[in-house]
Amino acid sequence: PNKVIIIGAGIAGIAAAIRLTVKGYQAEVFEANAYPGGKLTEFDQQGYRFDAGPSLFTMPQYVDELFLLAGKDPREYFNYQKLNRVCNYFYEDGTQLTAYADVNNLALEIAGNTDTAIEDVLAHAAKSQKIYAITNHVFLERSLHRLKTYLRWDTLRSIWKLRGIDAGRTMHKANKSFFKDDRVVQLFNRYATYNGSNPYKAPATLNVIPHLEQHYGTYFPQGGMYSITASLVKLAEDLGVKFTYNAAVSDIVVEGGKTAGITLDGAFVPANIVVSNTDIWFTYKKLLKKYPALHPKKILNQQRSSSALIFYWGISKQFEKLDLHNIFFSADYEAEFKHIWEQKNIYHDPTIYLNVTAKYNPEDAPDGHENWFVMINVPANEGQDWDTLIAAARKNVIDKLTRLLGQDIAGLIQCESILDPRSIESRTSSYQGSLYGTSSNNKFAAFLRHANRSGKVNNLYCCGGSVHPGGGIPLCLLSAKIVSDWVPDV
Ligand code: FAD
Repeated sequence: PNKVIIIGAGIAGIAAAIRLTVKGYQAEVFEANAYPGGKLTEFDQQGYRFDAGPSLFTMPQYVDELFLLAGKDPREYFNYQKLNRVCNYFYEDGTQLTAYADVNNLALEIAGNTDTAIEDVLAHAAKSQKIYAITNHVFLERSLHRLKTYLRWDTLRSIWKLRGIDAGRTMHKANKSFFKDDRVVQLFNRYATYNGSNPYKAPATLNVIPHLEQHYGTYFPQGGMYSITASLVKLAEDLGVKFTYNAAVSDIVVEGGKTAGITLDGAFVPANIVVSNTDIWFTYKKLLKKYPALHPKKILNQQRSSSALIFYWGISKQFEKLDLHNIFFSADYEAEFKHIWEQKNIYHDPTIYLNVTAKYNPEDAPDGHENWFVMINVPANEGQDWDTLIAAARKNVIDKLTRLLGQDIAGLIQCESILDPRSIESRTSSYQGSLYGTSSNNKFAAFLRHANRSGKVNNLYCCGGSVHPGGGIPLCLLSAKIVSDWVPDV
């Protein structure tokens, strides 16, 4: 009676398995790939190690919480260090600056390199913190789809203060009101891309994100991002969770309005509770294809977040100017986002994100070399001619890095792999290859995401980046927490 099946070993699926096991359920995870982690995975290539997907680690307490919940010492499984320097920024006009974790140092750095007063940066940080204080309880840590949430005093208070969350204007408009220097506006607009959104459309509420970085910090997990997946799988296995790989579930079986189990390789596997960690689009279109009357059409038609094009390069040189996280900005950010969101193609001068884990984990590259994860934001997959777009983008990225680093980059590339919207979709069943489920380009987006349980099928729950509260590792971990709060005690 206490059997739970979890479809997908993405980070939220693993977290849900841990939480439900602690709650007394017997959890089994079926994963289509031969490995766990979904987007949060790694691979090796000619002596280099690469984290394949996420590279920025925030809110590590949500990972620690899972070990503590299970009565284990997190440090026996998993460790991480706080970064003092969050990101190095490079601009086409030659400006370079370092974003420090400490907000006062950040303000000094920005004021020292741009036409900005220290107070303006601090005022922006204060606003960011204010938005966090109002939104945190309502939008992130609880289900928005449960009456109980609205009856809590702090939720009511948050709703009362909703004007303070700045949802009436775009991020860009809000940032323009704080800063007259376009380089600084661009720096803060970039936070929209943390959930695959467009700063010229997304509500200024997303200006909460810098607060999360400044207040809670950014971290580097020992051994790289993949150690988050590896340590949580180890914890789950220690607790008795069973993982079956190369196991693509074909159907969720519904009987009498509730889940009866799943179908795998044509065989029925019964369960009392099913948790889908599959993208919500595929949960309905594939796993519940036999029950079209149950499909929430409005939710499935929501705009998806952007996708990414990533070049994983082994580089035969070390660059002192580079840190773990580096950004090379486009000269015209608005034009870049018009290409991503309106023309649905790739701008000729894209903003480049360059991640080098070898800066913190030297064994990730041979001596004197660096492992470069070179990513640009691109539209979700709607059948574009990706091969042509990628070939042009590759040249533009190499030219831009060559220009801004003052060094011929093409000649340093020793090996290469490429991930694009098509392969993100095929490897992780992420509809259109979107990185973060649905976009936040709409001020109602937070309320429009699919809930963490089905309103129509009893005992069916959903977790992961395409459902409430949204994409990114911390939010995926919270989605598993909300699922566990919904599931009745054994
Ligand atoms: P997913 O990772 O989407 O995994 C779902 C799993 O379900 C997959 O393993 C899939 O194979 C499996 N599955 C699907 N269908 C079936 C089926 N029918 N049967 C069995 N198994 C199935 N987040 C951050 O916090 N920081 C970052 O810096 C960051 N950068 C990113 C960069 C890239 C390139 C990408 C791709 C994502 C990034 N993200 C980042 C987002 C983050 O990776 C995701 O939000 C998160 O990992 C999604 O986790 P999930 O639980 O939704 O599962």
